[in-house]
Amino acid sequence: MSRNPILRLAACVLAASIHMQSVVRADAERPNIVFIFTDDHSPNAIGAYDRWLKSVDPTPNIDRLASQGMLFERSYCTNSICGPVRAVIETGRHSHKNGFRRNYDGFDWDQPTFPKLLRESGYQTVMYGKYHLGGTPQGYDEWKVLPGQGVYYNPGFITPDGRDRIEGHSTDIITGMAVDWLREGRDPDAPFLLRVQYKAPHRGWMPPLRHLDAFDDVLIPEPPTLFFDHRTQSPASRHQEMEIDRHLCPHHDLVLDLVPDRGDYPGIQRRQDTSNWNTLRRMTPEQLAAWRAHFEPHDEAFHAAKLEGIDLVRWKYQRYLRNYLGCIRGVDENVADLLAALDELGLAENTVVIYSSDQGFFLGDRGWYDKRWMYETSFEMPLIIRWPGVTEPGSRENRLIQNLDYAPTFLEMAGVEIPDDYQGRSLVPLLRGEDDLEWRDALYYHYYEYPGYHMVPPHRGVRTDRFKLMHIHPFGEWEFYDLEADPMELTNQYGNPWYEEQIAALKTRLDELAEQYRDDTDLSERSAEWKEKFRSAAK
Ligand code: CA
Repeated sequence: MSRNPILRLAACVLAASIHMQSVVRADAERPNIVFIFTDDHSPNAIGAYDRWLKSVDPTPNIDRLASQGMLFERSYCTNSICGPVRAVIETGRHSHKNGFRRNYDGFDWDQPTFPKLLRESGYQTVMYGKYHLGGTPQGYDEWKVLPGQGVYYNPGFITPDGRDRIEGHSTDIITGMAVDWLREGRDPDAPFLLRVQYKAPHRGWMPPLRHLDAFDDVLIPEPPTLFFDHRTQSPASRHQEMEIDRHLCPHHDLVLDLVPDRGDYPGIQRRQDTSNWNTLRRMTPEQLAAWRAHFEPHDEAFHAAKLEGIDLVRWKYQRYLRNYLGCIRGVDENVADLLAALDELGLAENTVVIYSSDQGFFLGDRGWYDKRWMYETSFEMPLIIRWPGVTEPGSRENRLIQNLDYAPTFLEMAGVEIPDDYQGRSLVPLLRGEDDLEWRDALYYHYYEYPGYHMVPPHRGVRTDRFKLMHIHPFGEWEFYDLEADPMELTNQYGNPWYEEQIAALKTRLDELAEQYRDDTDLSERSAEWKEKFRSAAK
């Protein structure tokens, strides 16, 4: 409730009048939900997760949210890629059930998504920002979404009334939409679901102009595995295209030559909607001048230095991380603005605030960028939930949870019945701090997108409290990790007789989970010739 005594009195009078109308009273007891969702924000780049990037203080405001709520330490996705993660959240069902396995699949909006059920129960439902599902959103009273991946500067939006183009940085614009709606758009007598979904910090990592130099004076710490050679992995995980060294190409993948006349290399194919390059063409002359003033001297210095080998990897890592973290600095500031608006409007006490991102992201660990793998770094998702009066401030939860659990959680928060075919579990008992609870012992994972960007092969897997088994099925490859002995998953123990029993047990558990979730994906291996070609391409 507001700190202002007059507003507080007004709220009490309002509450008393609501008390007389039983239908509305039920609504007044149901919490509002503000779901803040970013793209590719690794827990490694959140201070509250206490990982190797904490020393650069990437997220002071998200950390404050964590200190007021609950942080999930073992939170994972079911399929580590942007659109499919969102489809699982929307539907409460695995990719193989909701039909959206790969980014280029189409999403069937006719499914019983959780916002539809909230809306039917009297919630106002609103979504702004990146949705990455394609098609016309269903289940929302109001929406403005970025087409595809969206762009950072002067983005276009799809709205129910057609296309709109707004000047500014996408993170600031999306927050502006949300705050405007909170102030003027909503019906104060009904609870709401407000989804605030940023493009940041997705590639091509373009921070707001005010944060271009935010990390210039800091040497970003390197992860211990920046130069990992992958020889202790199966050939499948050596065959990929996601290495800072070999694949984060200086003049292609958006790390170097970030001013127009430097980077226009003939023959370099640029992605239509994600490239810094196309975004530079959308900038106003003032924006471009500020951008150029920042990057041009850095690019000149880089070319003069003629770096090679590990020095070049280190330079690319610094440039990549500075821009990535600059995007996150923009998000963090905007989270503060949203929280301030909730306080100012007297909404904070009855509003659940969730911070999450669609998957983790390699930030130089294993020598990589991007995501997709079931390795912890890209399998995990940050999740912080502040629910005043329910979550213990500063609490940490370490039971195994997944994005599959979000939809049932939102429904239970709102007192709405969870459909039988939803495959996750509500986190509400965990949020209430219930310890005496039977909880799942294993997570199921399945990634499908191949061939595609970064050439990560399809794989499925199971993770328990201590062990992980990955089945890279088109290639007949397996990986097994003891996460207690080897938390960074550096040594594949598949085939090690020491673990024979545990590997057999996890194989059984994997089949049981596939059965439980009714995953009938074809797991047949590719031809021997095909596999040989694949193996010979492995590093
Ligand atoms: Ca993503």
